[in-house]
Amino acid sequence: MSLTAPVTTELETFGLFIDGQQVDALSERTFESQNPYAGKPWAVIADGGPEDVDRAVASSRAAFEETWRPMSGFQRAAILRDVAQAITANAERLALLEVRDSGKLMREMRGQLQGLGIWYSYFAGLADKLEGRTVPALAPTTYFGYTLREPVGVVGAITPWNSPLLLLTFKLAPLLAAGCTCVVKPSEHSPASTVAFAEVLHEAGLPAGVLNVVTGWDRSTGEALAAHRGVDKVAFTGSTATGAKVAQAAVANINRVTLELGGKSPQVVFADADLDAAANGLVAGVFAATGQTCMAGSRLIVHEDVRDELVAKVVARAEQIKQGDPTEAETEMGPVANRPQYEKVLGYLQGARDEGWTIATGGEPNEDLGGLFVRPTVVLAEPDATIAREEVFGPVLTAYTFRDEEEAVRLANDTPYGLAGAVWTKDVHRAHRMAAAVRAGTVWVNAYRVVAPNMPFGGFGLSGIGRENGSSAVDEYLENKSVFVELTGGTRDPFKLG
Ligand code: NAD
Repeated sequence: MSLTAPVTTELETFGLFIDGQQVDALSERTFESQNPYAGKPWAVIADGGPEDVDRAVASSRAAFEETWRPMSGFQRAAILRDVAQAITANAERLALLEVRDSGKLMREMRGQLQGLGIWYSYFAGLADKLEGRTVPALAPTTYFGYTLREPVGVVGAITPWNSPLLLLTFKLAPLLAAGCTCVVKPSEHSPASTVAFAEVLHEAGLPAGVLNVVTGWDRSTGEALAAHRGVDKVAFTGSTATGAKVAQAAVANINRVTLELGGKSPQVVFADADLDAAANGLVAGVFAATGQTCMAGSRLIVHEDVRDELVAKVVARAEQIKQGDPTEAETEMGPVANRPQYEKVLGYLQGARDEGWTIATGGEPNEDLGGLFVRPTVVLAEPDATIAREEVFGPVLTAYTFRDEEEAVRLANDTPYGLAGAVWTKDVHRAHRMAAAVRAGTVWVNAYRVVAPNMPFGGFGLSGIGRENGSSAVDEYLENKSVFVELTGGTRDPFKLG
């Protein structure tokens, strides 16, 4: 089936991806995807609805039962290794799709896509090692006990608009290794790359139906997937508010759920830190990707003796940041990814002014560039400021001070979130004390914004449930089954347990 694109435009077209091919939505409706830098639509996307979710889930169920689950771990591993190579071979094209959809920098997305293959080769290494245990259940002469690890089934994945393929991969690589299949619903703001990605994986050998994609403009598409009775687990990345709704829908079906949600991550800088390195880490943490990362280090908690010196360094670097065309090699910060997000960021900046906080730099749109550009911003505030407490999801750093380590820990943990954090110090004892004391799923010491396929990633508190990445990520997609085998052949008292 071909897509119904408007005849008057040169826009690229993307269908749903079901059963190994692009197809129209059953309604034949489409929507346009906006390029936030160009400020105009660049692609026409199939507008899938709940009825398309039904057929995608049916396809993934059939692929689970007939193809993917019966396959040996060795075969799945071999396909995942081929997938890894195909992603690397297509990295440039896939990166460009993400840049067009979200305005992220080509230099960042190229690196991200070139590195994505290692997730699949890492989890390929686990696909043939999913072993149960033998257990001396009760008396070992009476029962032989062993455990089986079985794939959960069909996973419904729901992803946000920032880094759609990286965040899908955090789910997809381990779930495929575990023997599960997947229906993914990408964000309505950046849907194109996921469709192209599914096509690349299919051409690399991933059997039809193992990964299906349903794009859709309306919230009802994601709602239908989260609540679908044919799905066995929901894996969600997005905002905490939506995550709560998705979890409720999943739990109503007694389904498992993994949630990777928002954050308000602290960067704690002690007086003995290398302030140039810390300033660089602060810039990486909150201005890279225009601050639109769940792990953005958006709270600077700095020792009072070095606040002025450190803030001066960060402000100087922020004012040099080159904003502009995300496809140009020298650009350091692109636009905010979509208009609602742009307005949300500007709303927080106005709120900071209304509350009386000092804007050390930025605080306004970069009107020289047109488009949805916000200047890199540093706000000097107190811990109770709205802008110090709520996730802005934009290029905004809020700074406040501490006097001693105890206060630093208290301020770092004074948040309902707990996704990530950093500590900057040259004192090795303090570094490890702080790493243990900060309540967050990832703590960096003298570094920021590092993730790896073999290191668990996820949040405490409102930042989520479960962990992605790391060898234990496969467990999130496996059931543990106990098998008891009676060894004596005798008859037991039917009214006694065991
Ligand atoms: P969002 O919650 O608005 O949307 C996420 C996804 O959920 C989208 O695909 C959306 O269409 C879908 N959706 C919306 N309402 C739904 C519903 N009722 N039922 C089912 N699906 C629904 O988030 P966003 O604006 O796309 O992304 C930004 C948020 O994501 C930020 O809060 C950020 O911190 C978070 N995030 C978290 C991580 C992480 O790993 N922890 C990573 C990236 C982004």
